[in-house]
Parts: sequence; structure tokens; C-alpha cells
Amino acid sequence: MGSVITYDDKCPKCKQETGFSDFYYKTSEEYFACQNSECSFSYSYQWKRDKDHKLITRDGSDNYEFSNLIMVETIYENGVKTVKELNQNKDE
Ligand SMILES: [Zn+2]
Repeated sequence: MGSVITYDDKCPKCKQETGFSDFYYKTSEEYFACQNSECSFSYSYQWKRDKDHKLITRDGSDNYEFSNLIMVETIYENGVKTVKELNQNKDE
């Protein structure tokens, strides 16, 4: 719903066109997973949410402008998961 799914996206790691990607154009959230079993690289960009799945804002208010939200980058590479909060939104 509200997303663009691609099944043959080029993987930035193994360069094979085996990537599954899901891009939510309304929220700019993105998910990618390489289907090459020798690679298995994946990443996601999602807005930070609390345990109730409510968006967390930078200033703690109910202003849900993208500039007031926190983009969280999650990368799985070589079996290692790296989670990083970005100081700036990736499109800026
Ligand atoms: Zn790959």
C-alpha cells in the first residue's frame, strides 16, 4: 500500500540484479534485501518509532513534518546488523 516494489534491483554489494526493494513514496521509507544467498545484504530506512509504533519527533511535539522526524538506517552485512540514527534525512 503506497509503495513501489521492485524484484530485480541491483544490489549495491554483490552487483547482481537480485535485490528486492520496497519504497514507500508517501513516507520516503525504504527496504532492500538481496535475494542472492551468498550475499544476503539488506538495509532499511525507517522513521524512528516508539514501542507503540508511534512516530518519535526530534522536539517531542506532535509536529510530524519529515524534518522533525528521525530516520533510522539499519544495515545487515555479512551477518552483522548495524543500526544508526541519521542526523539528517537522507534526501537532504
Ligand atoms: Zn547482493
